[in-house]
Parts: sequence; structure tokens; C-alpha cells
Amino acid sequence: MKKAVTMLLALAFAVGVTACGGGATKNEAQGGAATENKTEAKTETKSDGKKVGISMPTKSSERWVSDGSNMVKEFEKLGYKTDLQYAEDVIENQVSQIENMITKGANVLVIAPIDGESLTDVLKKAAAAKIPVIAYDRLIKKTENVSYYATFDNFKVGVLQASYIEKALGLKDGKGPFNIELFAGSPDDNNAYFFFDGAMSVLKPYIDSGKLVVRSKQTKMEQVATLRWDGATAQARMDNLLSANYAKDKVDAVLSPYDGISIGILSSLKGVGYGKDPSKPLPVITGQDAELASVKSIIAGEQTQTVFKDTRELAKKAVQMADSVLKGQKAEVNDEKTYNNGVKVVPSYLLEPVSVDKSNYEQVLVGSGYYKKEQLGK
Ligand code: BGC
Repeated sequence: MKKAVTMLLALAFAVGVTACGGGATKNEAQGGAATENKTEAKTETKSDGKKVGISMPTKSSERWVSDGSNMVKEFEKLGYKTDLQYAEDVIENQVSQIENMITKGANVLVIAPIDGESLTDVLKKAAAAKIPVIAYDRLIKKTENVSYYATFDNFKVGVLQASYIEKALGLKDGKGPFNIELFAGSPDDNNAYFFFDGAMSVLKPYIDSGKLVVRSKQTKMEQVATLRWDGATAQARMDNLLSANYAKDKVDAVLSPYDGISIGILSSLKGVGYGKDPSKPLPVITGQDAELASVKSIIAGEQTQTVFKDTRELAKKAVQMADSVLKGQKAEVNDEKTYNNGVKVVPSYLLEPVSVDKSNYEQVLVGSGYYKKEQLGK
């Protein structure tokens, strides 16, 4: 009964929108069929021109640029208006951009935080204005004011990186010992811990047995983290590691959590002759995000691996979540235990990451239409 009433109301509203010349007019102008008109009118009813504030961390990494534009595209398809802002990795920028979205009357916020713990106050303001919040890719911590979390299986990202190293070095076959150095992401990003823990779940037994040797002895998150995922910071740390520990020995593998960091590590290695001298081949170097520069580097035989996370799919998930919340419905989730943000477990949808190297980049990245062959210089 309730459903029937809702449907009637929806229909009445749809007719209203059509009469007002909403989406239907556009369709008529394009010569759309009558059935299409109806669909579009209904779509308009769904979103009712509501406003979405999208707060992204930085444009300095391609992935976030794609995430932002993919979401805008998906939201607009449903008739939403969007306000997309990038904070250039400055926490205060992000807070004031979100404040602005609240003041301008956003109906829902989708946020990928720079620092997962710095949004508690601004999200109180969002809650006071009854604006629901979706955490995008990175968990928003220390607040009850987050409805859902759209992300990837972040632990698995680390497992994929470390398993790649395990296989490339032949560790399972008992080969070794090999020298490895470890890098992790930004300590204020919850994901960084999941990536590192996932990787260490594979690597630690080999470190304990001596098949992997970390000459720097830096194996703890606080020793290997890279603030703001900054490639230059990683490069400087790698310079130090090489000069302090590898004057005679060579490094065989580097666990890198993100392509931008991998590129920094590679510059450092090349700076001291790795990859030139046949006795000093480049080590196995992992990565994440399948950024263009890194995919090209993989093709050129420098970086070894990356983890592809399809930002198009993530954007769709976040948009579905926001749309459901605004319609007062439950969003689809597949994990209700992993992501405790310190106040509550945030219901999440985890997408699958995929390991990519020279052998499968064409199939995975070009085949899925994520990149065109020409972009990769092919
Ligand atoms: C994301 C990664 C990204 C990193 C740096 C993490 O939160 O999950 O995909 O590489 O931030 O931007």
C-alpha cells in the first residue's frame, strides 16, 4: 500500500516536472522517443536537481582528477548538480571548502579526506544542517556523521603488492636472501595502514626467516610512512637509505604503496646507477593507481608492478550511495565489519583491486577502456 502511494506521488511529481518543461524539453529537442521522455522525467524526479558537494584531496595525482570528473558525470546523469573542489593537500583548504558547500546548501557531501581525523568539527555542522556524508576511497574517522564508505579492498592492495615481490624473487621456491626496503603511505590516511598491513602479512614471515633482509632495519609504519604520499619525500628517504646501507650491497626489491612514490624511488635508484650497470639491475618496485607515468615506466621496464583500481567503478558506487541516502533508502554494501572509524563501523562497499604488470597491462587497462593505446605511446 505504502509502495503504491509512493509510486503515485512519484508519478504525479514526474508529470509536474514534465509540465514544467524539465528534462523532457531537452529530450524533445533532441527528438527523443516518448518512452525516453518518461524515463528522463522520472530521473529528474529522483534527483530533483539536488546539489552534491564533492571534496577531493588534490589534483597533483591523476587518480583524484579522474575520480572527481567521473563522479560529476555520474551525478549529472541522474540530474544532480555538483560542486567539485580540490584542496591541494592542505587540510584547512578542505575544511573551508566543505564549510562552503554546507553554506551553499549542498544536499549530500562526498568526501575523500586529506587527513582522516580532521573533519570531525565540520561534519558536525553538516549533521546540524541534515546533510548526509559519504566517505570516498579514504575512511573519515572520529565522527558518527558519515553514512557510508565506498572504497576498494585496501588490505588486498597490500597483499597484491607483496605477493608480486614474493613471486618475482622466487621466495616461495626458497630463493634468497634478498635485500628489500619498505615504503608506506601517509600516516594520516587510514588506507596507508591497510596497504602496509596487507603487504606485511605476506612479507613478514620472510623477514623473520631471513630470506628478506631490510638493511635499514626500518620495518615499522612510523619509520616507513611518507607524509601526504609525496614522491619527493620518498625520493629523499630512498637517497638516505641507499647511501647509509647500500654502498656495497644492492637492493633487490622495494615495496612502494603508490605510483607517485615509486617514481620518486626510481629517480633515486637511477641517480646512483641502478638500471645502467648490468651488475645493478633495477629492483622489483611495486606501486598503485596505474597512473599514466607509471604504466609507461612499466612498459619501459623500470617500475615493475602497479595496482589498478578502477575509479570509474568507485565513482559509480559513491553516486549510488549518495542517491540512495537522499531517497531515504539503504545503500548496497558488502562489508559491515572492517572499517571502524573510532566511533562506529561505517557500512562499506569494497571493490576489487587488480595487480598489473608488463604482461597484463594491455588486457586490463586498454581492454577495459581505462586508457587508450595511444596514451601509452603504443
Ligand atoms: C588511495 C590510493 C592513492 C593514495 C595517494 C590512498 O588513499 O587509496 O589509491 O594512491 O591515497 O593518493
